[in-house]
Amino acid sequence: MIQFQFERASTVKASVNAMVNNGNARFIAGGTNLVDLMKRNVMTPTKLVDINAVPLKDIQQKNGVISIGALALNSQVADNKIIQEKYPLLSKALNAGASAQIRNMATVGGNIMQRTRCSYFYDTTLPCNKRQPGSGCGALDGLNRMHAIFGTSKDCIAVHPSDMCVALVALDATVVVAGPKGERRIPFEEFHRLPGSQPAKDNTLQNNEMIISVEIPDNEFNKNAHYFKVRDRASYAFALISVAAALNMDGKVIKEARLAMGGVAHKPWRLKEAEKSLVGKQATEEVFKQAAEIAMQGAKAYKYNAFKLKLGPNVIVEALKNAAGLV
Ligand code: SF4
Repeated sequence: MIQFQFERASTVKASVNAMVNNGNARFIAGGTNLVDLMKRNVMTPTKLVDINAVPLKDIQQKNGVISIGALALNSQVADNKIIQEKYPLLSKALNAGASAQIRNMATVGGNIMQRTRCSYFYDTTLPCNKRQPGSGCGALDGLNRMHAIFGTSKDCIAVHPSDMCVALVALDATVVVAGPKGERRIPFEEFHRLPGSQPAKDNTLQNNEMIISVEIPDNEFNKNAHYFKVRDRASYAFALISVAAALNMDGKVIKEARLAMGGVAHKPWRLKEAEKSLVGKQATEEVFKQAAEIAMQGAKAYKYNAFKLKLGPNVIVEALKNAAGLV
């Protein structure tokens, strides 16, 4: 059994203060990932700071952005009227994730902070550089069907498991965090990191910082947006590959495009070159195929996930066709 201290905080300041001088303390809210990890001895925090009483559940529009509190529940965000009308990509991605029960417990902050579901990471009898730096990567020459095809390193080929984050990176969101020195803002694309030689580090958050909200700027992507997720079963399964696609269209011409993939990298994978290739073009299947080809440049498969090299472009094309109303 793991021994740990437990503290409740009801303000952001008290939450941040409770982390100071303890590199192995963790915040807990819904606990839908952290408790699993603790039960399996994958994470063994010496202190848990319960932040459920901190008032960070609001979803509000202000100054050209929508601000979503870090403790808003995944289901609350997915069902919110403003989100459904103005940011349907986010609502669709959230509803593609986990199960209804988990969405009712999991928070936005926790979704961002959830850890990879690589099975070697969860099994403490097997090597995993993310869980135990220097022990090796079991997945590299092992069962790597679910693993990454972009941005891998010789030390880790894990993927980030979130659906919500794929929509947020496509929508140019910003993560607002609070720490001992005040607030700072991190562009969503820079929040999660690639594994490199330090796979234990999932993101750029400092130990004593806490996510307080996510902001999404106003956009014109509400009419043509689709989240397409391919998985092994219809619900409660992580993406083999998912694609968030959003288009701002003038008739049949694409004025702006947003594309991101899930299930392919250690972070939600934005496809900016493919986006650029779509601008000014007619929304046709041929144009979408060309964008998909650009998107897949640099992809590298391992023994059991080579199917992702074929599946990836197909999912991109289908997501774009759905977004453009071609199906
Ligand atoms: Fe661990 Fe990453 Fe290798 Fe999985 S892919 S075993 S998380 S180091």
